[in-house]
Amino acid sequence: MSEYCLERGDCEVYGMVRRTAHIHDHNYRHLKDNPNFHVVRGDLLDGSSLDQLVQEIQPDYFINFASQSFVGDSWRIPEETFMAGAVGVLKCLESVRKYCPTCRFYNAGSSEQFGDVIYSPQDISHPFRPRSPYGAAKCAAQYLVKVWRESYKLYAVQGILFNHESKRRGEEFVTRKITKGFARIAKAIKEGKEFEPIYLGNIDAKRDWSHAIDFMDAVWRMLNQEEHRPELKDVEAMSPLLKEYVVASGETHTIREFIKVCTDHLGYDCVWDGHGEREFLRFNLEFFNKSHLKSAALVKIDPSFYRPADINILCGNPEAVKKELGWKQTIPFDILVKRMLKSDLYDAGIISISDSGPLGEPNKAETPA
Ligand code: GDP
Repeated sequence: MSEYCLERGDCEVYGMVRRTAHIHDHNYRHLKDNPNFHVVRGDLLDGSSLDQLVQEIQPDYFINFASQSFVGDSWRIPEETFMAGAVGVLKCLESVRKYCPTCRFYNAGSSEQFGDVIYSPQDISHPFRPRSPYGAAKCAAQYLVKVWRESYKLYAVQGILFNHESKRRGEEFVTRKITKGFARIAKAIKEGKEFEPIYLGNIDAKRDWSHAIDFMDAVWRMLNQEEHRPELKDVEAMSPLLKEYVVASGETHTIREFIKVCTDHLGYDCVWDGHGEREFLRFNLEFFNKSHLKSAALVKIDPSFYRPADINILCGNPEAVKKELGWKQTIPFDILVKRMLKSDLYDAGIISISDSGPLGEPNKAETPA
């Protein structure tokens, strides 16, 4: 989001990080020399720190992406998940209300709010049926945003963003775990060494994955709705007319399909073998013998990655955000996967040309107009 705003040229960005977060600055280190980018200290759960920052900065926009966002861990640390995902949002809303009520507030919602889905693709009218502590926290936040918008006439919205990925995705998420795993395997193969497979959980889960940069454009549009919705032009108190949107690709893919794009890109001839917890992806035997490979299994199942309750299918309906806010997706699924893989292959020293541009957006030629 910071990159998106800085690229616009008319924004100054203050990125709030927790006291210890400066150690993990790899995702924004490259922005530190930009005179319009500032890192400020604060904590979502310390209302006084938010109050001070909002008072001092008087922001035009307050965009909250902070949360304990790894669903898998939300059963292990449910209180922290709920505090950051819901109570923290309440604290943000209160700071805005008290110290900068003209500031536009965006909170990151999640497809996890739909949870146990009853129809596909899910649009904004789909009921909230969360299946994880994380999803429940995001539902609570959605209602808090609504109540603050309606009670205090704030410009406050929570968009429901389906899974959005990039080379900056944390390695605990399945997409990055896979691309990083294949980069490790490719390196071992190049060096003629044995390798460990990638261990995964439910590979039949379906997700609607998009590239994060596309979604940042949707966030910006949600924060500037009057530029796209003529009925909001010249309306003084637009808050009752503000809408919240689902942002998604509208396509859903299994984890197996994600893996297939990776193996195809690497030129590996593979087959799935076995069943259930014993299922595994291995090299086709002919390919294995011909290539003088040292190990055959690329992916194995580890039930410890199964979740107490998983969502088997998520597929969002982006029609409203397209039609009403003019948003469009520019990076399709297969290009997203290849970009993530290439970035990890580069980091592992397998490919020598980093085709990442300043936005981490490699190889424009691959992106259909
Ligand atoms: P989420 O949709 O925000 O939970 O994103 P994740 O990338 O963590 O998980 C997406 C889906 O992949 C879920 O249905 C997981 O159960 C499934 N999955 C299968 N194996 C794994 C794994 O090893 N790690 C993670 N994180 N998810 C896995």
